[in-house]
Amino acid sequence: EEKDAAKLADSSPGSLSGFRDFEGNDSLEHFIKKKVRVWCLLHNGLWELGEIISTSGERASVVLPNRSVVTVPFRELLPANPVIVEGVDELIRLHYLNEPSVLHNLHYRYCRDNIYSKAGPVLLAVNPFKDVQLYGNDLVTAYKQKLLDSPHIYAIADTAYNEMMTDEKNQSIVISGESGAGKTETAKFAMKYLAALDGSCGGIESKVLQASYILEAFGNAKTSMNDNSSRFGKLIEIQFSPTGRICGAKLQTLVQLAQGERSYHVFYQLCAGAPSVLRGRLKLKRACDYSYLNQSGCVEIHDVDDSLKFQILMGALNMVGISKEDQEHAFEMISAVLWLGNISFQVVDNENHIEVVADEAVTNAASLIGCSSWDLMHALSSCRIQDGKEEVTKRLKLRKARDTRDALAKFIYANLFDWLVEEINSALAVSKQQSGKSISIIDIPGFESLEKNSFEQFCMNYDHERLQQLFIQHLFKLVQEECEVDGIDWTKVDFVDNQDCLDLFEKRPCGIISLLEEESNFPHATALTFASKLKQHLNTHNCFKGHRDGAFTVHHSSREVLYDSGGFLDKNRDQLHIDIIQLLSSCTSRLPQFFASVMLKESQLACQQHSVATKFKGQLFKLMQHLKSTTPHFIYCIKPNSKQLPGEFEKDLVLKQLRSYGVLAAVRISRSGYPTQIAHQEFARRYGFLLPEYNVCQDPLTSSVEILQQFNILPEMYQVGFTKLYFRAGQIGALEEVRKRAL
Ligand code: ADP
Ligand code: MG
Repeated sequence: EEKDAAKLADSSPGSLSGFRDFEGNDSLEHFIKKKVRVWCLLHNGLWELGEIISTSGERASVVLPNRSVVTVPFRELLPANPVIVEGVDELIRLHYLNEPSVLHNLHYRYCRDNIYSKAGPVLLAVNPFKDVQLYGNDLVTAYKQKLLDSPHIYAIADTAYNEMMTDEKNQSIVISGESGAGKTETAKFAMKYLAALDGSCGGIESKVLQASYILEAFGNAKTSMNDNSSRFGKLIEIQFSPTGRICGAKLQTLVQLAQGERSYHVFYQLCAGAPSVLRGRLKLKRACDYSYLNQSGCVEIHDVDDSLKFQILMGALNMVGISKEDQEHAFEMISAVLWLGNISFQVVDNENHIEVVADEAVTNAASLIGCSSWDLMHALSSCRIQDGKEEVTKRLKLRKARDTRDALAKFIYANLFDWLVEEINSALAVSKQQSGKSISIIDIPGFESLEKNSFEQFCMNYDHERLQQLFIQHLFKLVQEECEVDGIDWTKVDFVDNQDCLDLFEKRPCGIISLLEEESNFPHATALTFASKLKQHLNTHNCFKGHRDGAFTVHHSSREVLYDSGGFLDKNRDQLHIDIIQLLSSCTSRLPQFFASVMLKESQLACQQHSVATKFKGQLFKLMQHLKSTTPHFIYCIKPNSKQLPGEFEKDLVLKQLRSYGVLAAVRISRSGYPTQIAHQEFARRYGFLLPEYNVCQDPLTSSVEILQQFNILPEMYQVGFTKLYFRAGQIGALEEVRKRAL
């Protein structure tokens, strides 16, 4: 049973609770007799607070706040917490750690703009979707001077900084959460705090903030879930000098995911805000004139002025120190991408073979990337293939030509992004003699399970598993250390590792990623051949199940996700054929040439072009390697509703996220079988007066032991640590009762 309770994966109703049943001094009879509040599961699937008025057989009648009475089976009742712990800022302090209690607590706090809570060592941040007065300079000062210690992103940043200075160890702040949960904002607040901590060397901290602004312009897009959704994962490593001043930064990014309903912000910003000289040079038009931008029907974002944003972007580029020349090169590439999107094809025969329409789109795109229109048209309309010993040039069909055009645009943009990251890195680099330790802030898209899950979710959920493993290992170490430090007996809490699930993704040669890579290299492979290959190799794996229609299920550490294999191959393949790479390397513009050379070098090193998933895995490994050398601090951002509205708290949505991250199980593990933990001092203060002869000056440990004996708490029900008392479930309730009566 102990094992069960510690499982990170369980998700049946109420079972993540510390104690599923009423037991010991918290027996159901006790709840009935004392009219203590219970949670009662209603027909609509929601838990409601109520009071038991009678029982018969295995059922109880419960009166609800609206005075109606419902009759439910015992198993649909859970103990509710006494009012004294309502709204506590650390979930660990709840007497009953069941799902309705935790949700109630978070909701209670959310309504009061207390968006931060602690779940064991993890900081929970519930997105307020409005300005909450929680980030002013006064608060920075308060956390810096330790005048405040309530849960806050500033408190986490402060701890990370102090641990870095005292332990001389690199730190990391790992921020997870669904899209729109507030990861990127939270990362910014963490940076703001670190930047405000100490004077820095030469304004580098504002450069770091500007750099993340640039990345947002190039890497974020509006989606239905978030107007400013980051479409890439990133790690910002903030480097400090040995004396604790910020002296540089380094960025690392993870492969970009598909864009949202609007494309990347920078396209619209450039179209709206470019000054006329630049417009002329780039042959720019309005955003709505480009087919890459006007297809979705969403060109503007409510309340966002793209033209103004462009001015800010230019400012940021200057401030970080990207040269004017490089800025222009970058904008040329953006304009080239837009014009590529406008290139159209004309079908010339009844087999769908095409010719490129020679219009301004071709001319402009070609001149921006620095080749002749003829070369570009040729590359987009034909490809060379090996026919026996001979090489022949074949005309492309419509679909293939479009794919080639789009792949070229994507290639240019993805490489532009990587190039920009490197430019920023060299502008923010630290000199050897300055460097000390660092704090990395990681903001990567977290677990996602939609109705239809595709390659993007697959990548996201894979990186979630990796982070989850880091989390489990860290949590385990913390609990063990705490027990050892406080001198209490440490019996190993059994916890569920997710290595199995990671193996399913990573094992070679038969993990999903390897199989995907292999299948992507077969020109004639389809979603179905891929799916049946998975089934053939993996159906015996206990985290995998293949279905008939090409879909497959993965048992993630938090829950099952159903993936649709359609689109996996296309999204995973880098479709750029060698003719296009050669075209780019012959261009007269600097960037396309550079992109092509990077590409050629990479494929020479690896003997073949790597697919997206393999690249992703490589980047993730690099990131994890870095994280493993740090002391991590975890933050889970929670999206309280899917409408991006303030004040709305959808309990089932929140619950789903808590389960995904194994939050309650984590709290439970933190309490390691002794769910109630109270400092000697606090215990003595609260219950001391119940002793017949209480001496306030007596040392709290002695008083505590006297109290325990006086009230016959059984020795197997508690342990006395150096600083705290550790109680088994349900022990404190009895004492509370006595206290209440005595007051
Ligand atoms: P994510 O990066 O997780 O996708 P974001 O950080 O972009 O999500 O947050 C989405 C939106 O939620 C932001 O644009 C902002 O409007 C709002 N938001 C998030 N965190 C906060 C916060 N702490 N205070 C106020 N608004 C917030
Ligand atoms: Mg984001």
